[in-house]
Amino acid sequence: MGAPTTWTGIAASPGIAVGRVWVVDRRKVKTPKREVGSTEVGGEIQRLHQALQASDAQLQAVKDKVEKLEGTEHTAIIDMHRMMLKDELLVLEAERLVREEKVNAEWAVKRAVRKIKGALSDVADPYFQERRADVDYVGERIIRNLMGEAPDVQEPPPEGAIIVARDLSPADTALLLHEHKVAGFVTDLGTQTSHTAIVARALGIPAVVGAGRVTQACDRGEWIVVDGGRGTVVLNPSPGERMDYEAARERYQASERELLTTRDLPATTLDGVTLRLVGNIEFAEEVEGLLAHGGEGIGLYRTEFLFLGRGDLPSEEEHYLNYRRILETLAPRPVTIRTFDLGADKLPSGMKSHAENPALGLRALRYCLRQPDLFRAQLRGLLRAAPHGNLKVMFPMVSGVAELRAARRVLLDVAEELRREGTLVKLPPVGIMVELPSAALIADRLARECDFLSIGTNDLIQYTLAVDRQNKDVAYLYRPMHLAVLRTLALICDAGRDAGIPVSMCGEMAGEPIYALVLLGLGLSELSMNGPSIPLVKRVVRAARAEDGRALLERLLELTAADDIEQSIRSEMGQRFPGLLELDAAVRPAAG
Ligand code: PEP
Ligand code: MG
Repeated sequence: MGAPTTWTGIAASPGIAVGRVWVVDRRKVKTPKREVGSTEVGGEIQRLHQALQASDAQLQAVKDKVEKLEGTEHTAIIDMHRMMLKDELLVLEAERLVREEKVNAEWAVKRAVRKIKGALSDVADPYFQERRADVDYVGERIIRNLMGEAPDVQEPPPEGAIIVARDLSPADTALLLHEHKVAGFVTDLGTQTSHTAIVARALGIPAVVGAGRVTQACDRGEWIVVDGGRGTVVLNPSPGERMDYEAARERYQASERELLTTRDLPATTLDGVTLRLVGNIEFAEEVEGLLAHGGEGIGLYRTEFLFLGRGDLPSEEEHYLNYRRILETLAPRPVTIRTFDLGADKLPSGMKSHAENPALGLRALRYCLRQPDLFRAQLRGLLRAAPHGNLKVMFPMVSGVAELRAARRVLLDVAEELRREGTLVKLPPVGIMVELPSAALIADRLARECDFLSIGTNDLIQYTLAVDRQNKDVAYLYRPMHLAVLRTLALICDAGRDAGIPVSMCGEMAGEPIYALVLLGLGLSELSMNGPSIPLVKRVVRAARAEDGRALLERLLELTAADDIEQSIRSEMGQRFPGLLELDAAVRPAAG
């Protein structure tokens, strides 16, 4: 047994897991290099094609298995990998290297992969940067087949194992989670929004992603601890540490169970104000977990996630079937579906963005208005699905009334078109995300032209404070309690109240229990968050008085520095809800 080693990665899914390592993707394959004689060239090229065929058959087998388990939702990426196996840049280049440079097939594949990755690196767009990982994945599979190694994990991980992987493809993740009872996950790569993190969160499996070089350091069977709430991984913990973590896991599970005892009670304050606590989802699989945590509906369905990483655009029928399924599952609960927030780094395969400043570029509603076919297909699917539940449609990144009006025009036009075709259409409520300072400043005017507002604090903070929400270097400036943010929130809520329309919040701030009293003070009517965050927020709301929230907000607006505002909230919350902060630390991921 080695010495204890600790890593800190991204807290991707809360909870603590203690178990034995199960390494899924082996260390990077060491590609052999060999010169081949002229007489061997034909044989080498034949070997290459056999390996390509074997790789294709393996991917097909994985696809069949995933499809059987959970339908076609996660198989687009597998198809993309299979297409790569036929890509001329890869196949013809590898053949050329064997023929002209007289190298063995393994080395030729490695060189061809390197060349494709080089070309992808020249495109600044993060989408293409990410595709480099796919090229690596496919190249490695071919090389392993050439070397006679089976690239798939044939042996299933034992129950309670902790999966350690460099990265997990969506197919790997789906298979591991659905087929085996694994206790936790650690990946070297990945971010909070990587597929693994999202699925792990939805299923309540502790996970740390972006942990660095854990895979290299681990061997199968070693003890490992995953603290998904803090982003900590401990390999070879001492027996004492292991016991401490096991006790922490028990505490965590007990507090989760305890929190769930109020799951079916309303989020009503002591002075009678009721908030609706709903969920943010990216994939349909998250619905079950959301309901299990007491979600009263969906406040934000990020539809763009469904279609990332695929080579084609979703058809109207796919939109329709997908929304219909979710609406039916949740009916009569409300389901707010946000139209595509595509653009910048979130683009379907094959679409390019060369914007220098993508966060300020053609994304979300702007992008949809420029791509009428894509937008209309989604809106047609939404309107057709509407009768199957309680749908609300929401437009992201609205910067002013012109965009809102343009989007509404398309919606009305699509409704008219459907009616002409004989479909009965009832227009759902239409709302907007307020996530740009410009929208916040004219929220009163926007509120006159829509049915609800939903505050997207993730972007609102980013744009108000000019702090890239993805950039670690400026993360210290990302302050939800900056006075500018607080004033902006108050402005939006006042605008909604004056116009008599509900105001919701669906950014991460909505799920932070520490802010619950302030949010009550603002007069929000709905908070939308990850399912697992709901029970604790509900607990605070039920123990709070909205009146105290209003008084707190008034006091905070008199302060100036974000530190002072934050400190004042902490001390008030600490006094009013003793134990809450400790509970928060025990059951939720550390702020990332
Ligand atoms: C937000 O910006 O707060 C939001 C909820 O949208 P997203 O995180 O998808 O940009
Ligand atoms: Mg946003």
